[in-house]
Amino acid sequence: MAPELHQLLATFAGFGATENGGVCRLTGTPEDKAARDQFAVELAQRGLRLDLDAIGNMFGTALLASQSSDAVLVGSHLDSQPTGGRYDGVYGVLAGLLAVETIAARAAAMPGAARRNLVVVNWTNEEGARFQPSLTGSSVYAGTQSLEQALALADGNGATLGDALAAIGYRGTGALPLTPLRYVELHIEQGARLEDSATEIGLVEGAWSARKISVVFEGEASHTGPMPMPRRRDALRAAARCIDMLYEDLDEGAHASAARISVYPNSPNVVPSRVQVWFEIRHEDEAVATAIGDRFLSRIDSAIAPLGVSASIAIDERRGTALLDAAGVKIVERVADELGFSSMRMKTVAGHDALALQKRVPATLIFVPSHNGLSHNAHEFTAPEALDKGLAVLTETLWKMVTAE
Ligand SMILES: [Zn+2]
Repeated sequence: MAPELHQLLATFAGFGATENGGVCRLTGTPEDKAARDQFAVELAQRGLRLDLDAIGNMFGTALLASQSSDAVLVGSHLDSQPTGGRYDGVYGVLAGLLAVETIAARAAAMPGAARRNLVVVNWTNEEGARFQPSLTGSSVYAGTQSLEQALALADGNGATLGDALAAIGYRGTGALPLTPLRYVELHIEQGARLEDSATEIGLVEGAWSARKISVVFEGEASHTGPMPMPRRRDALRAAARCIDMLYEDLDEGAHASAARISVYPNSPNVVPSRVQVWFEIRHEDEAVATAIGDRFLSRIDSAIAPLGVSASIAIDERRGTALLDAAGVKIVERVADELGFSSMRMKTVAGHDALALQKRVPATLIFVPSHNGLSHNAHEFTAPEALDKGLAVLTETLWKMVTAE
């Protein structure tokens, strides 16, 4: 057992702790600040240098090879969903911290073995719970999202990410002064495939595609009491009809959701005049996700016209299937073998910082099992022994990467 890992996880579960044992640690809130402050303390205690960039990414560097300006990065995120659990993201950051500590000690005992430096990272706003879209810090670092646009992202109350970061003291002015060579992330699976197949380590080869469509339904406000039923133009009823229509028309293996909705004026006594729904469609095959979305969009008008409601598309975003670094998968596979852990190759359905980083450097994503596949839930759970195995695999993977010729 790695008692330190479990102590750290318990400490961080206290930041934004919810009554039912989960955490709510939204980006740029006092809870986020508390977790970041503690992370800074943990970095300092281990002699790691902290760099804070303009989007609030925190880099903790172990200089293992002073002659090299290259670094291997390891990390994940400390922010959570409103109904977050104790492992999503924070496990990857804390395991990364301990792996860096172990490797720094090993490198010090074996002068010359490490050929490049090692950096543990906390990426800002991975979850996209308060500020959309998600993967903000990692996308800015990878160069696929502009810093200005990212800082201007606004939450539901109009507060910007830039202001929120400044308010908690984490809108930095620095940068990581090293060249990233590779990125590695350890994460809970958030699905049930590892547990169902009794496999200890997931080797993530790539990601499912996702299509995110947001539709605005426009009806007409009226009194919910006296207005005769046939004359109502109820935007919420139209939205409900479309949500079910999407769910009823999915191809084999597809996942879909309508998990966020805003209703105007959202009064119990006013027929909703304007409703926005955020739909998501995911499939391993991008063409299938695209086709489901096309089919759905083409049927909306005729489905809601009888209700006197019209619809327009506010967002239609496609995230194609992505491949992670194939060489990295082989390295982790070998490490799992050497440590005597079972492993399997798989795809991730959820988005992760590793997918954003892959656009800049070869990125590697390692999964450990999630009990019952439950995540974004207070009861998210991974057994301590399984967490330890993930840490061991992460540590040896990083060692190979910093020492490789
Ligand atoms: Zn996560």
